[in-house]
Amino acid sequence: MESGDNLLPKCIVCERTPPKGFKEGIFIGRKFLCFGCEKVIIGLKTSDEDYCYYYNRIKRVWF
Ligand SMILES: [Zn+2]
Repeated sequence: MESGDNLLPKCIVCERTPPKGFKEGIFIGRKFLCFGCEKVIIGLKTSDEDYCYYYNRIKRVWF
């Protein structure tokens, strides 16, 4: 049984909940992205291997 999940959103990329929950990330629609992953994504270049990984996870939500 789980309860209180709405207060502790899971990041769509790393699938973790930051220690301070929704205060440490942004909501995209009803999905949650933690600041850690947001930073990584912003810093990625399209030529990076990681870019595909993050992009594929996020495009399901954004597009
Ligand atoms: Zn994350």
